[in-house]
Amino acid sequence: MSKRDYYEVLGVAKAASADEIKKAYRKLAMKYHPDRNPEDKTAEEKFKEVNEAYEVLSDEDKRAAYDRHGHAGFDPGMGGAGFGHGGASFSDIFGDVFGDIFGGGGRGGGARRSNRGSDLRYTLELDLEEAVRGTTVQIRVPKLSTCEICEGSGAKKGTSAETCRTCGGAGQVRVQQGFFTMAQTCPTCRGRGKTIKDPCNACHGQGRVEKAKTLEVKIPAGVDTGDRIRLSGEGEAGANGGPAGDLYVQVAVRQHKIFERDGADLYCEVPISFADAALGGELEVPTLDGRVKLKIPEGTQTGKLFRLRGKGVAPVRGGGPGDLLCRVVVETPVNLSKRQKELLREFQQDMDGEDGKHSPRKSSWFESVMGLFGDK
Ligand SMILES: [Zn+2]
Ligand SMILES: [Zn+2]
Repeated sequence: MSKRDYYEVLGVAKAASADEIKKAYRKLAMKYHPDRNPEDKTAEEKFKEVNEAYEVLSDEDKRAAYDRHGHAGFDPGMGGAGFGHGGASFSDIFGDVFGDIFGGGGRGGGARRSNRGSDLRYTLELDLEEAVRGTTVQIRVPKLSTCEICEGSGAKKGTSAETCRTCGGAGQVRVQQGFFTMAQTCPTCRGRGKTIKDPCNACHGQGRVEKAKTLEVKIPAGVDTGDRIRLSGEGEAGANGGPAGDLYVQVAVRQHKIFERDGADLYCEVPISFADAALGGELEVPTLDGRVKLKIPEGTQTGKLFRLRGKGVAPVRGGGPGDLLCRVVVETPVNLSKRQKELLREFQQDMDGEDGKHSPRKSSWFESVMGLFGDK
């Protein structure tokens, strides 16, 4: 894979000053930052490229080596110091430049970003009625919470965490690798910048404990499977007193015995008798608000859809309610008595030879079959 020239990537001259390089990088990294281009692969690639270029050009030694040897001096396959192999990750350099824009207090950006607790997802099953009308539910979420005993510091009560002696609190140490000096996460404090001599008994120095929390969640009317409700700050507590992540309540609507939902519309099947279908009449059909009457005409065929306007669902994102679509299904009678069978046979004989008149679909089907085999 041929790489673009790092100066070209950042759009600066070979003689650019450190300040110019930083400025150019800042502008490009803002533009391609993943937070601003979610799920954009091209932007992600550009972001990586820009970071890689900056990692080299912002470091005097690496820049000098690059000017002398070009990419060859950096190719992981060629020996030497490859990127992402023990070097500073781009989140580290990113934090150095952007600490004030993305993320909160603390030192280096890498540590700053990872301080935030994880987001959690909770799948909430609802009945169709609950999803349509909205409800309030209580959920119990197991999660890591800030330890109350040490208030998240991880140090035993009365003591406090000490500044790490290995890194002097920076969380990083500089390591000589070949002819480069690289920044690495401090092995003593693992990037925290602090060490704990007397760890808190409750959380064993982690600053966080596993705890279930009961939350009340308001579900707005009209939600559907796949909708998410975000509860800000209800995710996992951050490490070392960092900010908590968010909790996403993901709605999953249970299958309903009668209704099927498609967006704002509801579907249901209504079985009707052969006689009702032939003679027409009035049926009682269910809606989410109780029963309503539905008139069906004489000679209704199976599968026919009847639309009841406004009897569907009002979606959570707005818009009026959809419709209820009732599909009638003609049911063949079973367990007939002797007399009923006799009546049907009589009926059958009476119909004989009049298919074209009473069964338009059947007679046209027969015609097609005869055409297919060249009968007639
Ligand atoms: Zn340290
Ligand atoms: Zn504790």
